[in-house]
Amino acid sequence: MSITVFGSINLDLTVSVEQMPEPGVTSHATGFLKGLGGKGANQAVAATRLAKSKVRFVAAVGADAFGDSLKASLVALGVDTDDLVTMAEHDSGIALIHVDSTSQNTITVVGGANMAWPSDGPDAACFDGCKVALFQLETPKDATIAAMRKARAAGATVILDPAPIASTGMDALLAEADIITPNETEAAGLSGTKPTSFNEALEVARALCQRGPQTVIVKLGSKGLVYACKDGRSGQLEPFRVNAIDTVAAGDSFNGGLAAALAEGMELEAALRFASAAGALATTRKGASEAVPSRDATDRLLLST
Ligand code: ADP
Repeated sequence: MSITVFGSINLDLTVSVEQMPEPGVTSHATGFLKGLGGKGANQAVAATRLAKSKVRFVAAVGADAFGDSLKASLVALGVDTDDLVTMAEHDSGIALIHVDSTSQNTITVVGGANMAWPSDGPDAACFDGCKVALFQLETPKDATIAAMRKARAAGATVILDPAPIASTGMDALLAEADIITPNETEAAGLSGTKPTSFNEALEVARALCQRGPQTVIVKLGSKGLVYACKDGRSGQLEPFRVNAIDTVAAGDSFNGGLAAALAEGMELEAALRFASAAGALATTRKGASEAVPSRDATDRLLLST
Protein backbone atom coordinates (compact mmCIF):
# COMPACT_ATOMS: atom_id res chain seq x y z
CA MET A 1 0.00 0.00 0.00
CA SER A 2 1.43 3.37 -0.99
CA ILE A 3 0.91 7.12 -0.71
CA THR A 4 0.54 9.24 -3.85
CA VAL A 5 1.17 13.00 -3.79
CA PHE A 6 -0.11 14.90 -6.84
CA GLY A 7 1.02 18.51 -7.01
CA SER A 8 3.40 21.25 -7.99
CA ILE A 9 7.16 21.41 -8.18
CA ASN A 10 9.03 24.71 -8.57
CA LEU A 11 12.54 25.99 -8.60
CA ASP A 12 12.58 28.65 -5.85
CA LEU A 13 14.89 31.53 -6.76
CA THR A 14 15.29 33.59 -3.59
CA VAL A 15 17.10 36.93 -3.53
CA SER A 16 17.81 38.79 -0.31
CA VAL A 17 17.64 42.58 -0.61
CA GLU A 18 17.97 45.45 1.89
CA GLN A 19 14.73 46.99 0.60
CA MET A 20 12.08 45.77 -1.81
CA PRO A 21 12.92 47.26 -5.22
CA GLU A 22 10.74 50.22 -6.21
CA PRO A 23 9.34 50.22 -9.76
CA GLY A 24 12.04 51.36 -12.21
CA VAL A 25 14.92 50.82 -9.75
CA THR A 26 17.74 48.30 -10.22
CA SER A 27 19.22 47.17 -6.92
CA HIS A 28 21.88 44.67 -5.89
CA ALA A 29 20.99 41.57 -3.92
CA THR A 30 22.78 40.79 -0.66
CA GLY A 31 22.28 37.05 -1.19
CA PHE A 32 20.87 34.41 -3.51
CA LEU A 33 19.60 30.87 -2.96
CA LYS A 34 18.03 28.37 -5.30
CA GLY A 35 16.12 25.40 -4.04
CA LEU A 36 13.31 22.93 -4.43
CA GLY A 37 9.83 24.34 -3.85
CA GLY A 38 6.17 24.00 -4.67
CA LYS A 39 3.62 22.65 -2.22
CA GLY A 40 3.44 19.30 -4.01
CA ALA A 41 7.20 18.77 -3.82
CA ASN A 42 7.39 19.89 -0.20
CA GLN A 43 4.60 17.51 0.80
CA ALA A 44 6.17 14.68 -1.22
CA VAL A 45 9.46 15.24 0.63
CA ALA A 46 7.58 15.29 3.94
CA ALA A 47 5.64 12.10 3.19
CA THR A 48 8.81 10.35 1.98
CA ARG A 49 10.71 11.28 5.14
CA LEU A 50 7.88 10.44 7.51
CA ALA A 51 6.17 7.39 5.96
CA LYS A 52 7.04 3.73 6.26
CA SER A 53 5.23 2.97 2.99
CA LYS A 54 6.29 3.79 -0.57
CA VAL A 55 5.54 7.38 -1.68
CA ARG A 56 4.86 8.27 -5.33
CA PHE A 57 5.15 11.89 -6.46
CA VAL A 58 3.10 12.75 -9.54
CA ALA A 59 4.24 16.11 -10.89
CA ALA A 60 5.33 17.86 -14.08
CA VAL A 61 8.51 19.71 -15.04
CA GLY A 62 9.49 21.38 -18.32
CA ALA A 63 12.00 20.06 -20.83
CA ASP A 64 14.66 22.50 -19.61
CA ALA A 65 17.72 22.70 -17.38
CA PHE A 66 15.52 23.71 -14.41
CA GLY A 67 13.61 20.45 -14.84
CA ASP A 68 16.84 18.45 -14.68
CA SER A 69 17.90 20.37 -11.59
CA LEU A 70 14.53 19.78 -9.88
CA LYS A 71 14.70 16.07 -10.62
CA ALA A 72 18.22 15.93 -9.18
CA SER A 73 16.99 17.68 -6.01
CA LEU A 74 14.21 15.12 -5.58
CA VAL A 75 16.65 12.25 -6.05
CA ALA A 76 19.02 13.80 -3.48
CA LEU A 77 16.11 13.95 -1.02
CA GLY A 78 15.19 10.32 -1.65
CA VAL A 79 11.91 11.12 -3.42
CA ASP A 80 10.84 8.56 -6.05
CA THR A 81 10.83 10.30 -9.48
CA ASP A 82 9.25 7.49 -11.54
CA ASP A 83 5.99 9.45 -11.86
CA LEU A 84 7.62 12.78 -12.77
CA VAL A 85 6.35 13.86 -16.20
CA THR A 86 8.28 16.12 -18.59
CA MET A 87 6.02 18.51 -20.51
CA ALA A 88 7.92 19.13 -23.76
CA GLU A 89 6.22 22.41 -24.69
CA HIS A 90 6.46 24.03 -21.26
CA ASP A 91 8.94 25.63 -18.86
CA SER A 92 9.45 24.23 -15.39
CA GLY A 93 7.57 26.07 -12.65
CA ILE A 94 9.56 28.76 -10.85
CA ALA A 95 8.97 31.00 -7.85
CA LEU A 96 10.74 34.37 -7.81
CA ILE A 97 11.09 35.37 -4.17
CA HIS A 98 12.38 38.66 -2.73
CA VAL A 99 13.10 38.83 0.99
CA ASP A 100 13.99 42.21 2.52
CA SER A 101 15.96 43.01 5.67
CA THR A 102 12.76 42.96 7.77
CA SER A 103 11.98 39.40 6.48
CA GLN A 104 8.99 40.62 4.48
CA ASN A 105 8.71 38.73 1.20
CA THR A 106 7.11 39.04 -2.21
CA ILE A 107 6.65 35.92 -4.30
CA THR A 108 5.80 35.61 -8.00
CA VAL A 109 5.04 32.10 -9.20
CA VAL A 110 5.27 31.04 -12.84
CA GLY A 111 3.19 27.85 -12.94
CA GLY A 112 4.70 26.54 -16.20
CA ALA A 113 4.47 22.76 -16.52
CA ASN A 114 2.51 22.53 -13.24
CA MET A 115 -0.40 24.25 -14.96
CA ALA A 116 -0.16 22.22 -18.17
CA TRP A 117 -1.87 19.01 -16.98
CA PRO A 118 -4.71 17.91 -19.29
CA SER A 119 -8.19 18.21 -17.82
CA ASP A 120 -8.36 14.45 -17.20
CA GLY A 121 -5.32 14.67 -14.90
CA PRO A 122 -2.57 12.08 -14.55
CA ASP A 123 -2.89 8.38 -15.49
CA ALA A 124 -5.15 6.35 -13.21
CA ALA A 125 -2.20 3.95 -12.76
CA CYS A 126 -0.53 6.58 -10.52
CA PHE A 127 -3.07 5.54 -7.87
CA ASP A 128 -2.75 1.76 -8.22
CA GLY A 129 -2.40 0.30 -4.71
CA CYS A 130 -2.73 3.78 -3.19
CA LYS A 131 -4.00 3.95 0.40
CA VAL A 132 -3.75 7.71 0.91
CA ALA A 133 -3.58 10.41 -1.79
CA LEU A 134 -2.58 13.99 -1.07
CA PHE A 135 -3.52 17.06 -3.15
CA GLN A 136 -3.07 20.83 -3.01
CA LEU A 137 -4.19 23.64 -5.33
CA GLU A 138 -1.08 24.57 -7.32
CA THR A 139 -2.24 22.44 -10.28
CA PRO A 140 -5.23 23.15 -12.59
CA LYS A 141 -8.57 22.65 -10.87
CA ASP A 142 -10.10 20.30 -13.46
CA ALA A 143 -6.97 18.10 -13.53
CA THR A 144 -6.90 18.04 -9.72
CA ILE A 145 -10.56 17.04 -9.49
CA ALA A 146 -9.99 14.29 -12.10
CA ALA A 147 -6.96 13.04 -10.14
CA MET A 148 -8.93 13.04 -6.86
CA ARG A 149 -11.66 10.97 -8.53
CA LYS A 150 -9.09 8.47 -9.83
CA ALA A 151 -7.59 8.20 -6.34
CA ARG A 152 -11.01 7.55 -4.84
CA ALA A 153 -11.83 4.97 -7.50
CA ALA A 154 -8.61 3.16 -6.50
CA GLY A 155 -9.89 3.04 -2.91
CA ALA A 156 -7.58 5.72 -1.48
CA THR A 157 -8.39 8.15 1.32
CA VAL A 158 -8.24 11.57 -0.37
CA ILE A 159 -6.66 14.46 1.56
CA LEU A 160 -6.92 17.98 0.13
CA ASP A 161 -4.82 20.85 1.48
CA PRO A 162 -6.89 23.71 0.02
CA ALA A 163 -3.91 25.99 -0.51
CA PRO A 164 -3.54 28.43 -2.06
CA ILE A 165 -7.27 28.99 -1.69
CA ALA A 166 -9.18 29.80 -4.89
CA SER A 167 -11.89 32.45 -4.82
CA THR A 168 -14.37 30.34 -6.80
CA GLY A 169 -15.19 26.73 -7.55
CA MET A 170 -14.09 25.28 -4.21
CA ASP A 171 -17.24 23.18 -3.71
CA ALA A 172 -16.38 20.90 -6.63
CA LEU A 173 -13.03 20.17 -4.94
CA LEU A 174 -14.51 19.73 -1.44
CA ALA A 175 -16.97 17.20 -2.87
CA GLU A 176 -14.09 14.91 -3.90
CA ALA A 177 -12.14 15.06 -0.61
CA ASP A 178 -12.41 12.76 2.41
CA ILE A 179 -10.26 15.07 4.56
CA ILE A 180 -9.37 18.74 4.15
CA THR A 181 -6.67 20.57 6.10
CA PRO A 182 -7.15 24.35 5.74
CA ASN A 183 -5.21 26.79 7.91
CA GLU A 184 -7.04 29.73 9.51
CA THR A 185 -6.85 31.89 6.39
CA GLU A 186 -8.01 29.10 4.10
CA ALA A 187 -10.82 28.16 6.52
CA ALA A 188 -11.94 31.80 6.39
CA GLY A 189 -11.75 31.77 2.59
CA LEU A 190 -13.84 28.60 2.40
CA SER A 191 -16.46 29.54 4.96
CA GLY A 192 -16.60 33.33 4.70
CA THR A 193 -15.97 33.55 8.48
CA LYS A 194 -12.55 34.17 10.04
CA PRO A 195 -12.50 32.09 13.22
CA THR A 196 -11.25 34.10 16.20
CA SER A 197 -11.56 31.38 18.87
CA PHE A 198 -11.42 27.59 19.16
CA ASN A 199 -15.21 27.46 19.30
CA GLU A 200 -15.55 29.51 16.15
CA ALA A 201 -12.92 27.36 14.40
CA LEU A 202 -14.90 24.27 15.43
CA GLU A 203 -18.10 25.79 14.07
CA VAL A 204 -16.33 26.48 10.77
CA ALA A 205 -14.98 22.89 10.68
CA ARG A 206 -18.46 21.47 11.34
CA ALA A 207 -20.01 23.66 8.64
CA LEU A 208 -17.35 22.66 6.10
CA CYS A 209 -18.10 18.96 6.79
CA GLN A 210 -21.53 19.57 5.32
CA ARG A 211 -19.93 20.50 1.98
CA GLY A 212 -18.37 17.11 1.27
CA PRO A 213 -15.42 16.00 3.41
CA GLN A 214 -15.85 13.42 6.17
CA THR A 215 -13.25 15.24 8.25
CA VAL A 216 -12.17 18.89 8.41
CA ILE A 217 -8.96 19.79 10.22
CA VAL A 218 -8.36 23.51 10.79
CA LYS A 219 -4.64 24.10 11.39
CA LEU A 220 -4.11 26.98 13.80
CA GLY A 221 -0.32 27.39 13.72
CA SER A 222 1.12 27.91 17.20
CA LYS A 223 -2.38 27.38 18.66
CA GLY A 224 -2.54 23.76 17.39
CA LEU A 225 -5.66 22.59 15.58
CA VAL A 226 -9.34 21.74 15.78
CA TYR A 227 -11.13 19.02 13.85
CA ALA A 228 -14.69 17.93 13.15
CA CYS A 229 -16.07 14.81 11.47
CA LYS A 230 -19.39 14.16 9.76
CA ASP A 231 -20.09 11.38 12.27
CA GLY A 232 -20.17 13.99 15.06
CA ARG A 233 -16.66 13.52 16.49
CA SER A 234 -14.76 16.75 17.07
CA GLY A 235 -11.92 18.04 19.17
CA GLN A 236 -8.97 20.29 19.72
CA LEU A 237 -5.28 19.42 19.86
CA GLU A 238 -2.73 21.58 21.67
CA PRO A 239 0.53 22.11 19.77
CA PHE A 240 3.78 20.45 20.82
CA ARG A 241 5.90 23.04 22.65
CA VAL A 242 9.02 23.70 20.59
CA ASN A 243 11.40 26.56 19.95
CA ALA A 244 9.85 27.81 16.69
CA ILE A 245 12.09 29.93 14.46
CA ASP A 246 10.56 29.58 10.96
CA THR A 247 7.05 28.32 10.20
CA VAL A 248 7.48 27.93 6.42
CA ALA A 249 7.38 24.11 6.32
CA ALA A 250 4.88 23.52 9.15
CA GLY A 251 1.78 22.97 7.02
CA ASP A 252 3.52 20.82 4.41
CA SER A 253 5.16 18.66 7.11
CA PHE A 254 1.79 18.35 8.84
CA ASN A 255 0.13 17.12 5.63
CA GLY A 256 2.95 14.70 4.79
CA GLY A 257 2.81 13.41 8.37
CA LEU A 258 -0.97 13.00 8.25
CA ALA A 259 -0.73 10.98 5.02
CA ALA A 260 2.06 8.84 6.52
CA ALA A 261 0.11 8.15 9.69
CA LEU A 262 -3.18 7.31 7.96
CA ALA A 263 -1.37 5.02 5.50
CA GLU A 264 -0.14 3.05 8.53
CA GLY A 265 -3.70 2.64 9.72
CA MET A 266 -3.50 5.02 12.69
CA GLU A 267 -6.84 6.26 14.01
CA LEU A 268 -7.63 9.92 13.32
CA GLU A 269 -6.64 11.25 16.77
CA ALA A 270 -3.30 9.41 16.74
CA ALA A 271 -2.66 10.52 13.17
CA LEU A 272 -3.35 14.13 14.15
CA ARG A 273 -0.82 13.89 17.00
CA PHE A 274 1.79 12.46 14.63
CA ALA A 275 1.13 15.17 12.03
CA SER A 276 1.25 17.91 14.70
CA ALA A 277 4.59 16.64 15.97
CA ALA A 278 5.97 16.78 12.41
CA GLY A 279 4.53 20.31 11.93
CA ALA A 280 6.01 21.50 15.23
CA LEU A 281 9.48 20.10 14.51
CA ALA A 282 9.45 21.75 11.07
CA THR A 283 9.25 25.15 12.77
CA THR A 284 12.52 24.53 14.63
CA ARG A 285 14.54 24.66 11.38
CA LYS A 286 14.76 27.24 8.59
CA GLY A 287 13.65 26.58 5.03
CA ALA A 288 11.07 24.45 3.22
CA SER A 289 12.03 20.88 2.33
CA GLU A 290 15.23 21.17 4.44
CA ALA A 291 13.08 21.78 7.52
CA VAL A 292 10.95 18.63 7.22
CA PRO A 293 11.77 16.44 10.25
CA SER A 294 12.87 12.81 10.09
CA ARG A 295 10.66 9.93 11.18
CA ASP A 296 12.98 9.24 14.12
CA ALA A 297 12.85 12.82 15.38
CA THR A 298 9.05 12.83 15.06
CA ASP A 299 8.70 9.53 16.93
CA ARG A 300 11.04 10.83 19.67
CA LEU A 301 8.96 13.99 20.16
CA LEU A 302 5.80 11.88 20.37
CA LEU A 303 7.34 9.57 22.97
CA SER A 304 8.75 12.42 25.06
CA THR A 305 5.37 14.05 25.76
P1 ADP B 1 0.21 26.32 7.41
O1 ADP B 1 1.71 26.29 7.18
O2 ADP B 1 -0.55 25.52 6.38
O3 ADP B 1 -0.33 27.70 7.64
P2 ADP B 1 0.15 25.92 10.29
O4 ADP B 1 1.10 27.08 10.45
O5 ADP B 1 -1.19 26.05 10.91
O6 ADP B 1 0.00 25.48 8.76
O7 ADP B 1 0.93 24.65 10.92
C1 ADP B 1 0.47 23.33 10.79
C2 ADP B 1 0.57 22.62 12.11
O8 ADP B 1 1.96 22.61 12.56
C3 ADP B 1 -0.21 23.26 13.23
O9 ADP B 1 -1.55 22.82 13.24
C4 ADP B 1 0.57 22.80 14.47
O10 ADP B 1 0.20 21.47 14.82
C5 ADP B 1 2.02 22.79 13.96
N1 ADP B 1 2.66 24.09 14.28
C6 ADP B 1 2.72 25.19 13.48
N2 ADP B 1 3.35 26.22 14.11
C7 ADP B 1 3.71 25.75 15.33
C8 ADP B 1 4.41 26.30 16.46
N3 ADP B 1 4.85 27.56 16.45
N4 ADP B 1 4.61 25.50 17.55
C9 ADP B 1 4.17 24.22 17.57
N5 ADP B 1 3.50 23.65 16.54
C10 ADP B 1 3.27 24.38 15.44
